[in-house]
Amino acid sequence: MTRQAIVVGGGIGGLAAAVALHRIGWRAVVLERAAEVREIGAGMSQAPNAMRALDALGVGEQARSAGVPTYSAANLRLPDGRYLQQARPGDPTPLTAFHRADLHRVLLEAVPAGWVRTGTEVTGIRQTERQVTVTWSGGEASADLLIGADGIRSTVRRLLWPEAPAPRFLGRTAWLGIANAVAADGLPGSITMGSGGYLLIHPISRGRAYWAYVTAAEHPEIRYTEEKTEVARRVTTWHQPIPALIAATPDDAVIHIDICDLDPLPAYVRDRVALLGDAAHAMSPDRGQGAGQSLEDAVVLAAALTGEPTVEAALRRYDTERRPRTQATARGARADGRRTTSPALHRGLTSMIRLTPASLWRRGIAADGNATWRWRPPHLPSSATQY
Ligand SMILES: Cc1cc2nc3c(=O)[nH]c(=O)nc-3n(C[C@H](O)[C@H](O)[C@H](O)COP(=O)(O)OP(=O)(O)OC[C@H]3O[C@@H](n4cnc5c(N)ncnc54)[C@H](O)[C@@H]3O)c2cc1C
Repeated sequence: MTRQAIVVGGGIGGLAAAVALHRIGWRAVVLERAAEVREIGAGMSQAPNAMRALDALGVGEQARSAGVPTYSAANLRLPDGRYLQQARPGDPTPLTAFHRADLHRVLLEAVPAGWVRTGTEVTGIRQTERQVTVTWSGGEASADLLIGADGIRSTVRRLLWPEAPAPRFLGRTAWLGIANAVAADGLPGSITMGSGGYLLIHPISRGRAYWAYVTAAEHPEIRYTEEKTEVARRVTTWHQPIPALIAATPDDAVIHIDICDLDPLPAYVRDRVALLGDAAHAMSPDRGQGAGQSLEDAVVLAAALTGEPTVEAALRRYDTERRPRTQATARGARADGRRTTSPALHRGLTSMIRLTPASLWRRGIAADGNATWRWRPPHLPSSATQY
């Protein structure tokens, strides 16, 4: 008998979960509160672990053609333009950059038609021994399994983990944007490390560039009438193409967000319910791993569902495998963010990078250069049914 799941949330994590379930022969419905399933926001990069997860989901090739190789980890600069480390021509890079909408579309196209239901905000959950039921205004649905992929302010988490603390503001804020192709074409990707903040550039599809400026902030929710003017002012003396990229971003396309993460949860599963992606382990963006970890979650969860005799046993395995890794990654990202936006640590950090021999630096940013990137997906037996 075909098993049935409900996925709450149609972001990258929720869609990846739906694709993974499809591959193992489950049916699913994705309930998304927005009127349209789409990814808002700017860009992102994916590391080798995430690209392997996309391969396991059967969409690696499509993702690679939607993404662009980025040398952001290889080109580290100071605001005056000097390089602390620099990629050599012909060097490989393990990072792929995306417009968020492009990666989201790749996943959405792999979800069977009719599985996504928009305009559906889940507000209630109840469980019996055999089923889990979710409710929304005017409707309800039941299934063998519920996946809460509803983001950092997850309703599923709030309902079933009422004791979990709210997301934590990390004392950092970020401006993001996509610069048009005229200003951005051909950029290799870089990170410029200023005192108290850094600016990241990734090339993305159609010759455009994604940029993000992350800096310390005493309080959350400080907003400016002209966000683009404000971020431009903060990096006005920084090397080109930084001021040019900001100038080449439409005013209303500059996004300003506060950086928050989740304190570690004691469990990602409760009976027939699993949290996945930011709902389980929202993390600071400084390791570029949040969405990548949600892709891994989806693959590991599906592999556990095929390898264990019951849903409950599969969820226990998912929890055991995913919690230590994702929480260690979140801890590392929180610490990295603190270091890279601390004026007191700037001189020491940049000297350390400058003094690291180039060969050693390259080894550290090779595809297998660190434990996070080395991850290999479990085998997902593909028994997808065509709908
Ligand atoms: C500045 C910044 C840069 C980042 N850069 C990177 C990067 O380079 N690489 C990387 O891997 N990650 C990056 N991340 C992290 C990444 O954006 C997130 O980890 C990822 O988008 C989380 O996906 P998700 O599907 O878990 O959650 P979300 O994308 O938040 O999706 C949740 C979905 O659930 C829906 N929803 C919410 N509540 C309900 C409800 N009650 N009922 C129905 N639907 C609901 C929402 O509408 C939404 O569509 C970055 C994050 C930030 C802030």
